[in-house]
Formats: sequence, structure tokens, C-alpha cells
Amino acid sequence: MEAGKKIVEVRNLCTEFPIKKEFSDILARRPEKSVKAVNDVSFDVYEGESLGLVGESGCGKSTLAKTIVRLCEAKAGTIKINGRDITNLQGKNLRAVRKSMQMIFQDPYSSLNPRMTVYETIAEILKVHKIVSVHEIPDKVNEILAMCGLNKEMAERYPGEFSGGQRQRVGIARALAAGPSVILADEPVSALDVSIQAQIINLLKKLQKELHLTMIFISHDLHVVRYISQRTAAMYLGKIVEIGSTEVLFTDPLHPYTGILIHASPKIDPTQRERSPAIQGEVPSPIDLPKGCLFHPRCPRCMEKCKNKIPEMKEIKEGHLIACHLYE
Ligand code: SF4
Repeated sequence: MEAGKKIVEVRNLCTEFPIKKEFSDILARRPEKSVKAVNDVSFDVYEGESLGLVGESGCGKSTLAKTIVRLCEAKAGTIKINGRDITNLQGKNLRAVRKSMQMIFQDPYSSLNPRMTVYETIAEILKVHKIVSVHEIPDKVNEILAMCGLNKEMAERYPGEFSGGQRQRVGIARALAAGPSVILADEPVSALDVSIQAQIINLLKKLQKELHLTMIFISHDLHVVRYISQRTAAMYLGKIVEIGSTEVLFTDPLHPYTGILIHASPKIDPTQRERSPAIQGEVPSPIDLPKGCLFHPRCPRCMEKCKNKIPEMKEIKEGHLIACHLYE
């Protein structure tokens, strides 16, 4: 895929969460500890593309998305949206930029007010962000609902009256109402029945194309990511270890972690399921990260230098970057 305009630019981003000290830690004067949820992450997302983010649960995918939309504070690094550095924006400047980047959550219920009808929910966003004039709001609400496969009658219902799939459509409509250029979808279908998942994925794919949205799509389901994303990034313990075109990554992954992750994912064909090797060992504690390559305690191709030296991200082919000593 030809690279276009950079819409999201993330450089050396770090997000840490302090760990509360026990009384014994205070007495022993042990230093503060923290969890490095996002650890020196850099990547770009281009206009109109979908970047998939994959990795085991707890690897930092959701925290990375929340840091980009400024729901979590970055400890270091920069975030640029449409060329503007938003890392330290506050107050009304931050609110103004937030409407251009919207999140879709796994549980849309958490982002919907149960006491507001669907109409009121969408109308409120249009009003707050001054997307259209007051008399244009009813038509705009209907237009957004229709785009998301919801009809006028549904507008007067409350979120609690909808099925999971319909509720996710309302969550998507709410996100679109602000007129965003960037969508961050965090496991948007993982709470839904398989039959409904396909409908929501197809809806997101259609909207992304029609509205020329730039999307970061987080999922533990690699089949879904492969279907919806043009490029994919694999994340391990807060770091991106490989990023490249989805087809290349899925057919010829180079980083040992990406390779195992892809081969260990459940196959659609049930006769193939037994052949997938799982990733060996436990994920190390993010409080006490291993030295060198973070994947070395679990890597079947670990070399001596992997235990001490952190591999740097390098471009090994055009648009294909990898952090692994095997490719130096
Ligand atoms: Fe494995 Fe070494 Fe590559 Fe890390 S740097 S993934 S330990 S081969």
C-alpha cells in the first residue's frame, strides 16, 4: 500500500502506572515502582488506512490507544494528530482536538448514558461540538443512525432496550457524531456473538471506506484484524516488536513472537486446530521486566546477546520494521 499523509504520529511514547507502596516498602525505603504499560513506542498511521494492533492480553494495546486519545497521560514521547502535537494540550484546546479522535469500546454500554435515548445521545454530541445548527440536528441524527444500520424508531429507545450488536451500532453512531478523522476501536466485537461480529466488522469496514476514516483496530482475534487492517503491528509487554503490511505479517512473520502468535491463533478450519504450537512460558511481570529483549525468556531462537541487549526497531524491507537481533 502506498503511504499517504500521516494522520497519527507516535514517537517514543511511554505510559507508566505507579504501584502503591506497601507499608513494608516504606519502612525499608524501597524506591517507587511502576508498570511500564507502553514502553518507547513509535509508529505512524496514514490517512484512510486501518492499522491492526495485536498481542496477548495485558500487552498494552488498550493503554496505548487510551494514551493516544489522552485518556491516559503519557510519561514521555509525543503524539501528533494531523501534524499537531497534542501530547500536552489541556482544557478547551484538548477538547477541541478530542472530537477528531473517537474511541469505540468493547462494551458500548460504558460510553452510553442509560437515561438518555439514542436520539438524545447523538443530538448531545452534535450540539456540544457544534457539528450542525440546532434546526439541522434531527436530520443529522437520522442520517448518522441510517449510516450505522439503525432506523428512526430506534432513536426513541434507551440503550438498555437494545441487543449487544445494536448497542454497538449505537456506540459507533455516537463516535461518528463528533465527525472524527481517527477512530480507535478497542476490541469492538469481542463481547458479541460470532454471527453478529461479522455484521459489525463489515459495518466498520464500510464506514471507514465511505468516510475515509483513519483507524487503529485492536483485537485479540487475528482473523478479524487480517480482514479489516491494511497494516498490522504486534505488541509485546508494552513494545511494538514488528509492524508491516498485514498480508506480509500474516503470511511471513519475521519476529519470533509474531510468528508464534499467528500460528497459535485458533484456525478457522477445525482440522488444523491441533497443529498450532502455543507460546511457551508465562508473560513476565511488567513490574520486573527482563533485561535485553523482553521476549527472550520465552523465545525459541534466543541468543546470548538477546539476554542483555535491547533490540532496536529497524526497517528491513520497505515499510516492514522489526525489533529483533536475528535481523541485524
Ligand atoms: Fe528472540 Fe533474540 Fe529476537 Fe528477542 S531478539 S525475539 S530473544 S531472537
